[in-house]
Amino acid sequence: MKKSKLCPHLYYSSIYTIDLDKIKSLKIKGLIIDLDNTILPHHHFIVSEELKSWFKNLIERGFKVCVISNNSAYKVKKIADKLQVPFIFNAVKPLPWSFRKATKILSLDKKYIAIVGDQMFTDILGGNWFGIFTILVKPMNPYEHWWTRKLRILQKKLLNKFISNGELKYLY
Ligand SMILES: [Mg+2]
Repeated sequence: MKKSKLCPHLYYSSIYTIDLDKIKSLKIKGLIIDLDNTILPHHHFIVSEELKSWFKNLIERGFKVCVISNNSAYKVKKIADKLQVPFIFNAVKPLPWSFRKATKILSLDKKYIAIVGDQMFTDILGGNWFGIFTILVKPMNPYEHWWTRKLRILQKKLLNKFISNGELKYLY
């Protein structure tokens, strides 16, 4: 059975539970990381020590990292600067341009890259279309635009389907 382009390769409850040893063993060397609701809730600008050390740990473990967001330059730059990592704003995920740009920033072939994000219809669909490894995390904050909330309902249904037909495992 052909895997759905909406189905992530891995699904965790949060960035902090991602098994970095497992990611390493899959030969992933670069991570493209979504901003809103993946590493920070919407409309939040405060970078916690926990988040800073998570990024620091990624870099110490040899991962190349880039923050990618459909949000505007202002927020993305502010957060990425605090985390001292490169960034792409106005990414227009799921379209492939920003994914291509990220492979250049990370200077890695796409077979070594994974995206980490909270949205099936932007992060996961975009990553799978582009042909990179995809990691879904649960969204941090339920307060979102109405269209995102609608998509969330669909996302939940699809995730349940992928889990029940054995395509996906929820790893907490
Ligand atoms: Mg997001």
